[in-house]
Amino acid sequence: MKADEKYGFTYLFANEPAMNHAKLSEQYIGKTFDEVMPAKEAKILHLNYKKAAMHKETMVFTDEVDLADGSKLIGESILTPVMDEEGIVKYVVSVTRDITVSLLEKNQLIESEQRARSIVDHNLDGVITLDMSGKIIDLNPAARMITGYSNQQFISAYISDYIYEEDDCHFQQVLSKTKSGIASETIDCRFVHQKGEVVDVHLKMLPIIINQKVSGIYAIIRDLSQLTKNAEIIANMSFYDQLTGLPNRRALLSGLDKHLETDTAKKSDTALLYIDLDRFKYINDSFGHLVGDEILKKVAERLCQFEYRDYSVYRQGGDEFILLLPNTSKKDANKFAQKILDSFKKSFYFDSSEYYITPSIGISLYPADGKDAESLIKAADEALFRVKEKGKAHFQFYQGRIDTIHRNVVELETHLRKALENEELTLYYQPQLELATNEIVSFEALLRWHSKEFGFISPAEFIPLAEDTGLILPIGQWVIDTACSQIKQWSEQFNREFRIAVNISPRQFQDQNLVDTIRHAINKYNIAPDLLEVEITEGTMQDTAAAIPILKKMKKLGIMVSVDDFGTGYSSLSYLKQFPIDVLKIDQSFVKDVMTNNKDAAITTTIIHLAKSLGMDVIAEGVESKEQAQFLLEADCAYVQGYYYYRPLPANEIENIMMNR
Ligand code: C2E
Ligand code: MG
Ligand code: MG
Repeated sequence: MKADEKYGFTYLFANEPAMNHAKLSEQYIGKTFDEVMPAKEAKILHLNYKKAAMHKETMVFTDEVDLADGSKLIGESILTPVMDEEGIVKYVVSVTRDITVSLLEKNQLIESEQRARSIVDHNLDGVITLDMSGKIIDLNPAARMITGYSNQQFISAYISDYIYEEDDCHFQQVLSKTKSGIASETIDCRFVHQKGEVVDVHLKMLPIIINQKVSGIYAIIRDLSQLTKNAEIIANMSFYDQLTGLPNRRALLSGLDKHLETDTAKKSDTALLYIDLDRFKYINDSFGHLVGDEILKKVAERLCQFEYRDYSVYRQGGDEFILLLPNTSKKDANKFAQKILDSFKKSFYFDSSEYYITPSIGISLYPADGKDAESLIKAADEALFRVKEKGKAHFQFYQGRIDTIHRNVVELETHLRKALENEELTLYYQPQLELATNEIVSFEALLRWHSKEFGFISPAEFIPLAEDTGLILPIGQWVIDTACSQIKQWSEQFNREFRIAVNISPRQFQDQNLVDTIRHAINKYNIAPDLLEVEITEGTMQDTAAAIPILKKMKKLGIMVSVDDFGTGYSSLSYLKQFPIDVLKIDQSFVKDVMTNNKDAAITTTIIHLAKSLGMDVIAEGVESKEQAQFLLEADCAYVQGYYYYRPLPANEIENIMMNR
């Protein structure tokens, strides 16, 4: 670089590697840093050059350059000022070397040193570093703990000074063996503690070998008294829960299996109650784990206070507890579970705050539900799963294979497949009424499964699983076909037209053939398309781009489209505008609390207004009382459906109703 008096620099010459490093184009000569590179880099370079020129001294600096492949190149530049006879700096020559690799190696070295250091510092054993003469160079924290000496007191003393006299001879032998490069065996040895007591330790010595030469020794010591204590603690820990002091899952497994082998157990029933606290995560998340832990302790206490033969309480883990009631009938277990539920009606106090918690309880009985600990626990857990599913704060007995099947998609699939073949599926119809006149105007078709093997299974349980297995597709086809056939039959029978709505789940909606299936059924029974309604959920419409063309095809076909459970899912007002929707179905959760919850009342009225202003019909689901109906009437809701009017009924019962109206 050519330098001027004001410490300005311009390029004079750069060889090819330099041009690459600084990313210079061909016309660099005569240019300043600012003219060839970003301002920030130019400034740094200029500063370094200026320093070299001002101080008339060689300068070294490193910089990083981003390469085209995304990697970095680290360059070390040496700047040498070149002066004329009068000592004025005329040029600055820069020589840059690529030091990426050597820097990397240096960093790796530092890292590996730190790694080695970490093993020593955090080792639970005491590690004492010695030089070849046996002088102490370093102690890790554990060694300081065991011996009681600080680093200063110890360092530059000889280790043999701290070995109990009688052990010194043995110690010296081991030391000299280690010096020859062989790790010693572990020996028992006594250390003199700073306070004068003698500490029993296990001692092992390792040579520190650097470049094939022994250059030091690690003496590793382990406090034996602590070891015995630890062993006790560990044994205790493995069978007891630290937080509540209750026996844990391991204790349960081994204790229960032993108990089941006894004669008394064989002669009578044993009940296992699996308890899970409802929404406990909420307590942890909102009040912190400290509060969570305190409450768990109090729950444990409460579970232990019942007066009942010799029952035992275990903490299964987290917010789960297991109670074991030996010599207990189903009836007794039932009473006991009720007692537990009652006992939770009282709140839990902690830190002058009150917390309400409810438990859910699943119950299994020995020997009916399982012959060993594992299977009894599993059965109770499955019953518990059903309690949670049905709304928590409840208890339930294991129901045999059906519980397992609900959780076993593979098995369910085979049974559901058979259900379709064996005609175990039926459609029930729930009337939908015009609120102002109390006239039945339409129906919602709801699927029912009366399994020959397991009895009644609710759609809320099997439909999600049918979705997972894809079985919803043939089932859905059957539903559409059956509903269309019913429309035809009733319009002939009653000489009046009724619309029937069928539920379409998201998986069905994604099916390419859905519109064809519907068209086919409409043609097959020769019915007016607007007598068929499809209920889709908000979730179905999330993928706007995919949903719009399908809905348009449906509208072209002439069928009606309603949005089920409106307000519970992805409620975006924008989709309402974009989609060709005829009816909004206000979800039952809003209707349920319309009389008691202002927000639900507000949501309900808002949906009704919204539907009106968008030119859609609106129907309220789940109407169960006269008051709700009155509220909806005043809110100007046009249609209703719910237990207050009719439950979903089989076709023949609907026919009876229609004839007698
Ligand atoms: P959904 O479409 O929202 O159906 C309304 C549910 O509420 C039905 O439950 C119905 O029996 C119940 N219900 C009606 N009136 C009242 C009331 O006044 N109070 C209360 N508490 N409940 C009422 P169901 O029959 O158990 O069906 C549950 C869900 O299963 C349905 O919810 C629907 O999403 C799905 N589903 C039912 N049938 C089919 C079907 O054929 N295909 C598909 N894909 N899903 C179906
Ligand atoms: Mg529905
Ligand atoms: Mg609904």
